Amino acid sequence: MSKSIQQILEQDSLTKENIIQLLQSSGDDEKALFAKSSEIKLKYIGKNVYFRGLVEFSNICKKDCLYCGIRAGNKNVDRYDIADEEILKAAKFAYDNNYGSVVLQSGERSDKQFVDRIENLLKEIKKLSNNELGITISLGEQTKETYQRWYDAGAHRYLLRIESSNRELYEKIHPQNENHAHDTRLACLKSLQDIGYQTGTGVMVGIPFQTYEDLANDLLFMKEFDIDMVGMGPFIEHDETPLYEHRDKLMSLNDRFRLTLRMIAVLRILMKDINIASATALQAIDPLGREKALRIGANIIMPNITPTQERANYLLYQNKPCIDEGADDCTNCMEARINMADGEIGYGQWGDSKHYANRTKK
Ligand code: SF4
Repeated sequence: MSKSIQQILEQDSLTKENIIQLLQSSGDDEKALFAKSSEIKLKYIGKNVYFRGLVEFSNICKKDCLYCGIRAGNKNVDRYDIADEEILKAAKFAYDNNYGSVVLQSGERSDKQFVDRIENLLKEIKKLSNNELGITISLGEQTKETYQRWYDAGAHRYLLRIESSNRELYEKIHPQNENHAHDTRLACLKSLQDIGYQTGTGVMVGIPFQTYEDLANDLLFMKEFDIDMVGMGPFIEHDETPLYEHRDKLMSLNDRFRLTLRMIAVLRILMKDINIASATALQAIDPLGREKALRIGANIIMPNITPTQERANYLLYQNKPCIDEGADDCTNCMEARINMADGEIGYGQWGDSKHYANRTKK
């Protein structure tokens, strides 16, 4: 006989079967799950929500992930690459407004010019903020040497989503070539951890062909890998991508949204002291999506500080929110939203992953 959700939530550890049951919960069971994860968040993380000012500085990408709106093969995208001065201006904005940290994100490139440029930008951001701004980068798969150079230049957190820990599923949503190999992704995550980055990963929730067991395995993978931070969002289809032809296999947007919240809640129960980002894609489905995620377990939010004129061109998925607000509007809106979720903004702080501190102390 299977256990009740209440019994599972009282256990000290969760089996894969328990996780699947939690991910499938609804109604009062789902409420009990969210109450538990919220309690754990308050106990281990507190009310603080940390900002990461997000600069999506270029949508030029050499890859062709089958789900992504800015994949190299999509010729309908207006490609942009924001000038260094503009990126530094955005970082200065984050510093002046006490954000504590920035995230630099772009499509994937690994040519020498790009690698050198990032190294230089990292040094400049450190300089303009008297070494005070924390820097996360999310620039895809690179050589260990490149990761090391960027780490030495000042980046200390790296986000590289595994997208799915199931190799077969990963291969269904990526082209079959060495540029998109699951093994490379895993090796990159390992290199990042070895170098000393706070290492972040994440998955898309609700992709075609994905099962509850896949998602449970994703969460167990994060625990097993001893990951420090996670960003997970609901999969949102883009009609200019190959994966769109499988849209008949998708659950409703609302079901993908609820399932993402349950993923966040279970992850918070499994990994009590990690940083969990409240993904923008949640807000694309529910206007209060990010606040709901903060209440049940997330503690990081990434206000978009990319210069407004380029935001509309960084569409990994469609109906992306906040593409026409200036950075100032974004901050005000965030403040109100976080208060609404009963959180407090950790202004001027890096908001590092407590898990990282705990695991590197061992
Ligand atoms: S998901 Fe990232 S690496 Fe893949 S095509 Fe999109 S921007 Fe490029």
